[in-house]
Amino acid sequence: MSLRPLGMEPPPERELLCIFGTGDLGRSLGQRLLQTGYRVVYGSRRPHSCGPLPPGAQVMSHTEAAQLAAVVIVCVHREHYDFMEEVAPQLKGKVLVDVSNNSKKGLYPESNAEFLQSLIPAASVVKAFNTVSAWSLQNGPSDAHRQVFLCGDKAEAKQAVRELATRLGLSVLDRGSLSAAREVEDFPLQLFPEWRLPLCIATGLTAFFFFYLLIRDVIYAYVEQDKDISFRIMVSLANKVFPIVSLIMLSLCYLPGVMAAILQLYRGTKYRRFPDWLDHWMLCRKQLGLLALGFAFLHVLYTLLIPIRYYVRYKVTAHTVLQIRENKTAVFDTTSAWRTDSYFSVGILGFALYVLLGITSLPSVSNALSWREFSFVQMAVAGVLDKTTDTPLTPAGEDDHSGPASPMCQARPDKDEQEEEEMEQQEEEDEERGWHGQPQPTTANHGHDANATTDISKRPGDGPQRPIRKNYPSRLIVSPASVGLRTIYGTAAVIPETATWRCCPSTNKGQRLWMFRRIIDIFASNHKKPADCTHLKISTCPSWATSRCCSARSTPTCMAGTSS
Ligand code: NAP
Repeated sequence: MSLRPLGMEPPPERELLCIFGTGDLGRSLGQRLLQTGYRVVYGSRRPHSCGPLPPGAQVMSHTEAAQLAAVVIVCVHREHYDFMEEVAPQLKGKVLVDVSNNSKKGLYPESNAEFLQSLIPAASVVKAFNTVSAWSLQNGPSDAHRQVFLCGDKAEAKQAVRELATRLGLSVLDRGSLSAAREVEDFPLQLFPEWRLPLCIATGLTAFFFFYLLIRDVIYAYVEQDKDISFRIMVSLANKVFPIVSLIMLSLCYLPGVMAAILQLYRGTKYRRFPDWLDHWMLCRKQLGLLALGFAFLHVLYTLLIPIRYYVRYKVTAHTVLQIRENKTAVFDTTSAWRTDSYFSVGILGFALYVLLGITSLPSVSNALSWREFSFVQMAVAGVLDKTTDTPLTPAGEDDHSGPASPMCQARPDKDEQEEEEMEQQEEEDEERGWHGQPQPTTANHGHDANATTDISKRPGDGPQRPIRKNYPSRLIVSPASVGLRTIYGTAAVIPETATWRCCPSTNKGQRLWMFRRIIDIFASNHKKPADCTHLKISTCPSWATSRCCSARSTPTCMAGTSS
């Protein structure tokens, strides 16, 4: 007899998932799935003699297990995939999740997931869970092991696996089609790829300055003055090398941002790729900064050690004894006292800011900050640190949203940058669909009222109205230097004649005229007569645009296309 209250629906049956392989990952994944509310059936070569399985799981042969579930997770090494061909008929139309990794990069001509797909073409293979370890699944995934990279050719199959991973409490990142599987399979084999260049630079600089100081301070003294001060190698020399390397690394961390900004100004656009070397350099700025902090930390430790060094204690004692013998007292020099105290104080404060800068670049910390707080620390604190260390930390224009991001911004993508990325993506889509590079139909041609208020997010002749994107006009904010052909073209080509182009109050008449001419040129290049552009007005920009792009910028001009 059912104890369910009358009229109450029976609970839906829990989804059944199949796992091939009763090894480490199979067992851990099965256990988590059972805890999450799934039913699990294992497919095994030895269903009657396999090891202990999570309570509640069933085990049967591969063929039997595959028939029962729509999703089959293959927790078997690639070398043993041959058995899959025998199960192929039962796997037709099913979602196959490939979790496998390899022991080395480039071991096989194709990725494991692609290989599995070629073995079972009638199934939809999705690559997932290969970055999650059996250990972390058993212990509850920690932050570092929560990320699941997903790729596959079938959207529905990916959706099913995405839901599965989300219910397991993992965060999913879609890497695209199955051709991305090789890259995903290489993730667990990576050995600090972003740290390689910064570590090489740090090692090279350390070696260079160490040998330079060794020759200058120790070998030279030995050869010229016959003095053996080789004991200085361990602490004094090291303590000279660390701050030098730290400051150079810190400048190397900010230098590519300046170079990128100059390059953008020179090119007149920010929509062109940086050269590979600069791109690579910019990508490892965070690591350069953290290494700089590490060297500063070593410098602090070595400096704290100074008073307990044998050499220093000997010198102090000898000096005191000498004073006693000669019955003399050294005069207290206030200037020296001030100088050394100030020196230490500024050093300590500089180091504290250095640490603050480093800590806020850690993802777990930066995620807890608002964008404003984050940029305050990265810009303002870096500016102060700049002054205390005499090292250029913040390049001019680094706070410019259109310029290259601060080194620490790598840890936290700028919201504007994200928007711009979206927009660039959109532009690329547009180009594919032929919106750019072709004469755009005029509003008049398409029955729009030329005098009516026009929404710039709507493209004439574009069928259904394009959705209005949040902050869309931010794309149209450009400094004169970045009013490259592409920027103007990309925007003007989609702006109907009724749109108003607004300029910042600070722009002078000549600049406005210049912009107006550029816009007309673009319209003309789109086979529109200049007469079509008579509705174009140039007026001062609204307050949001002023505050967003005009204040505190070296480049005074901006413009925004808005519906008037
Ligand atoms: P494992 O402990 O060695 O288990 C592999 C399982 O595959 C065995 O228990 C066995 O299950 C099955 N198997 C072995 N030889 C077979 C054959 N000739 N034919 C058919 N099935 C065979 O390996 P694992 O650590 O679970 O890893 C499984 C896969 O997950 C690997 O591709 C690995 O790269 C990937 N992975 C593992 C981890 C991890 O933390 N362990 C993390 C990410 C990805 P039956 O005896 O039941 O048939």
